[in-house]
Amino acid sequence: STFQSLGLEEQFLQAIADLGFETPSEVQEKTIPILLESETDMVSLAQTGTGKTAAFGFPMLQKIQVESRTTQGLILSPTRELCMQITTELKLYGKYMQGLNVVAIYGGASISDQARQIKKGAQIIVATPGRMKDMIGRRMIDISKIEYCVLDEADEMLNMGFYEDITEILSHSPKEKSTWLFSATMPKEVSTIAKKFMHNPKEVTV
Ligand code: AMP
Repeated sequence: STFQSLGLEEQFLQAIADLGFETPSEVQEKTIPILLESETDMVSLAQTGTGKTAAFGFPMLQKIQVESRTTQGLILSPTRELCMQITTELKLYGKYMQGLNVVAIYGGASISDQARQIKKGAQIIVATPGRMKDMIGRRMIDISKIEYCVLDEADEMLNMGFYEDITEILSHSPKEKSTWLFSATMPKEVSTIAKKFMHNPKEVTV
């Protein structure tokens, strides 16, 4: 299949062409149409390196209102490196979206610098759970209006002991939102959070 047949807008097809992506990967082929067409929860069993950032990134970018500065999308990811990587990718995918602001939030860096970036208005936040919880607690970040939430590498986040932080973070988000969970493995702990945070998720395996 082609990226065009998945339902992506012209501006994203242009960004994809600039990146030199020729064909959608399997996870992209299976998830992008579902996420674009419906407001659904989804569980995707996919390894790193399969192109899953684009699989959730393009639908999120296509669905948000870039004219608004409200935070509409949250991506939780286990490490600082992954956060930075996802942020870089999203900026490339959304390079033709005027006014797009994607902000990375992670520990080990200045919290006031991050708060300043958030203040400018970030439609999408990519965060590690510890720092995110901290900044919500300090009222530096408001996620009460998010519509899309990605739990990336959910198995890794749980292995790293982020269960409580994730629960606390999501308690500040609206009940009505779409949650997209990606995990390389599906241990009991992951299906437990899937049950806790999602309703009838569509399941995708690659
Ligand atoms: P990810 O699994 O999201 O970490 O992506 C792995 C790498 O593959 C990243 O460097 C992406 O830029 C790249 N990539 C993602 N989708 C495609 C595609 N359809 N064709 C070629 N490269 C891709």
